[in-house]
Amino acid sequence: MDKYIYYCKNCDSVYSGAKDTIQKCPECKVIIVPTMVELEEWRSKTPEEKEELKEHFKTLSVSNSSEHRNKIGNILNAIGYIDATLCLISALIIAIETNIVFAFVWFICGVLGAIFIIAFGEVINLLQDIKNK
Ligand SMILES: [Zn+2]
Repeated sequence: MDKYIYYCKNCDSVYSGAKDTIQKCPECKVIIVPTMVELEEWRSKTPEEKEELKEHFKTLSVSNSSEHRNKIGNILNAIGYIDATLCLISALIIAIETNIVFAFVWFICGVLGAIFIIAFGEVINLLQDIKNK
């Protein structure tokens, strides 16, 4: 598999990794920047050229695909928990105002809905993970 160069802004070092993956600096444990420079190409450069390239790498930004991934999953998770909470509150109101059996059925339906929303968020995260590999 082709290896690409990744750059750590924190410690000003380069590391190699597979293309289109999320790489972390082994030293600083931060997400490092994919540079689109192949490892072979990097190795053929002179020290001066490497320094020049590093200057260029400093202007690059970390791919936000991991943040994006978490964003979708988090939104769906939040909706799921809000749904479950609203469902519990409304079930309590129904139990007080009308009857407990209806409230119970209402609650089960609402919780199942919430579980589906949360599970859906997890599936999206999983698909994104597979895509990132
Ligand atoms: Zn580092």
